[in-house]
Amino acid sequence: MSEANEANDCLFCKIIAGEIPSAKVYEDETTYAFKDINPKAKVHVLVVPKRHYANVAELAEKDPAELAHIAEVAASIARDAYNGSFRLVFNTGLDAGQTVFHVHAHVLTGETLDE
Ligand code: AMP
Ligand code: ZN
Repeated sequence: MSEANEANDCLFCKIIAGEIPSAKVYEDETTYAFKDINPKAKVHVLVVPKRHYANVAELAEKDPAELAHIAEVAASIARDAYNGSFRLVFNTGLDAGQTVFHVHAHVLTGETLDE
């Protein structure tokens, strides 16, 4: 998959639009959260802005309020699913393991996490 992946051919845009099924955890006007298909923790949720930004750097530059909102949604998911502890990860760029170029926060929670 190319890093130049455009919004019109974006897996997470299709999930947000309901064209590809997902296990929804949370939704509001700007933000969507769903279970990761290949969980790396007991609870592994992806939180995404409905608008397409390639990565967290672009989101921070163009819509910092949405980035803050994603952190709040992550905290709320971790309170509902567990005791409020969570890890928040944004893989950014190919060398960091980013495979979907629609910014997504990995929320890992539900258990004691490995270092
Ligand atoms: P990253 O490697 O940081 O780009 O994360 C992409 C994540 O998307 C991976 O953890 C995948 O397991 C997850 N993923 C890929 N396809 C789907 C899907 N259809 N539904 C839910 N999660 C997905
Ligand atoms: Zn997208």
